Amino acid sequence: MKPARFDYACPATLGEAVALLAARPGAAKPLAGGQSLMPVLAFRLAQPSLLVDLRKIPELDRIAIGADGVRLGASVRWRDIERDARLAAAHPLLRAAVAHVAHYQIRNRGTVGGSLAHADPAAELPGIAVACDAEIRIVGANGARTVQAGAFFTGALSTVLAPDEIITELHLPAWPAARRWGFEEFARRRGDFALAGIAAFYDPAAGGRAENAHIAVIGACARPHRIAAAEAALNGRAVEEATILAAARAAAAAVDPPSDLHADADYRRALVEVMVERALKRAAA
Ligand SMILES: Cc1cc2nc3c(=O)[nH]c(=O)nc-3n(C[C@H](O)[C@H](O)[C@H](O)COP(=O)(O)OP(=O)(O)OC[C@H]3O[C@@H](n4cnc5c(N)ncnc54)[C@H](O)[C@@H]3O)c2cc1C
Repeated sequence: MKPARFDYACPATLGEAVALLAARPGAAKPLAGGQSLMPVLAFRLAQPSLLVDLRKIPELDRIAIGADGVRLGASVRWRDIERDARLAAAHPLLRAAVAHVAHYQIRNRGTVGGSLAHADPAAELPGIAVACDAEIRIVGANGARTVQAGAFFTGALSTVLAPDEIITELHLPAWPAARRWGFEEFARRRGDFALAGIAAFYDPAAGGRAENAHIAVIGACARPHRIAAAEAALNGRAVEEATILAAARAAAAAVDPPSDLHADADYRRALVEVMVERALKRAAA
């Protein structure tokens, strides 16, 4: 099928882009790399009357690294993250997760803002944003606001974004050099969406104990979320085999995975247990 007819605009400023979206409430959509939007249009699952291309808005394509963390502009592409050597130290978890995203053609065009707005439950970046308590900066006709990643995703392919709002930036808090981390996912082929994935980190404390544990799941859930029971099983304890296995079991018991044509709920639950175990063992090593 071909998309229904639509108008196209390519504004040079954020203000213009917001005004264009606001002028056609609910009938205009931002266009980033088109990696999800164009298939949706081609299948006529959406029929917006206007696409507002964000690629010429200069402030959206920046990666800024400072004492307060990493700021990724909405138009930053997977390939930009992969090629920015500074991120190896500034945010190794982000870099490791993004290495699992799709295939190189898609990685050349897919963007931070598009991934967050599309809100696929199996996408890596939303999982990293939630795991790290990141903030998502949004601009709309009523001004700017900042939303915690944990409150941004409301369900599969659903967010708190209003139709006239544009994501401008993802802010990941600063990453301490001593932090231990692991990212593990299972997909049927490299580059496919994960059937289940885990982003985990903790800060080492005296006696080999973990504190500030963050463990988030993708793929085996309707939306990425932290798994409090698994974090509690790790916090304050020495990071050794028994602790890791207890955290993994707690994670599997806590998730509520969907069944679909790719995998059933029990299989995904088992994957969560294994991914948590692997991620924490990698972190500890
Ligand atoms: C075959 C295939 C495999 C893939 N595999 C993976 C994978 O393994 N892991 C993964 O994470 N992703 C994967 N993706 C998704 C891909 O990496 C992109 O993240 C995703 O398609 C979004 O693409 P885009 O940035 O081009 O946004 P678009 O497709 O242009 O837009 C997507 C949605 O976001 C909205 N939007 C875009 N930018 C903004 C903004 N700044 N503010 C508000 N709304 C906005 C659009 O209106 C649209 O609704 C895959 C995609 C394909 C086609």
